Amino acid sequence: MSTSNSLPLAISRVGIGYDVHRLEAGRRLILGGVEIPADRGPVGHSDGDALAHALCDALLGAAGLGDIGTHFPDTDPRWKGVSSLLFLERTAAMLAERGLRVAWIDAVVIVERPKLGPHFPAMKQALAGALVLPPERINLKAKTNEGMGELGRGEAIAAQVVAGLAG
Ligand code: MG
Repeated sequence: MSTSNSLPLAISRVGIGYDVHRLEAGRRLILGGVEIPADRGPVGHSDGDALAHALCDALLGAAGLGDIGTHFPDTDPRWKGVSSLLFLERTAAMLAERGLRVAWIDAVVIVERPKLGPHFPAMKQALAGALVLPPERINLKAKTNEGMGELGRGEAIAAQVVAGLAG
């Protein structure tokens, strides 16, 4: 197998991740490690970054390492208010210890507003930096919930992620 970061890696395992957070007025919206201008933001023990949390679960799942709540419990004061990129950095280290590399990440964020597309390049850079991989290995998508339910009323934000690992 090539060790170049620019070449495709043969995926041997995949994992899925999902997360949802309530949104409240006056809180910072952190998504993919980036602060996005918005009139409301997530409620959470850490920074409430739903995309980073779902990604973390996808990577842990692919590695057979359980879930984010096991490794970074929201009852632990160490994780209060921290950047969720820290969870990704630690997860990346766990993968590396096991000889696993992130081959591909595909994600969808479900939020009614704001528009996320303009922020995707910065989000990819931040996530790729935490995971030490080229941003070209990350695909981000955004959907509204068509006005339906809590997501559609702007009361929550959700993220779904699939990750492929090589090794
Ligand atoms: Mg979460």
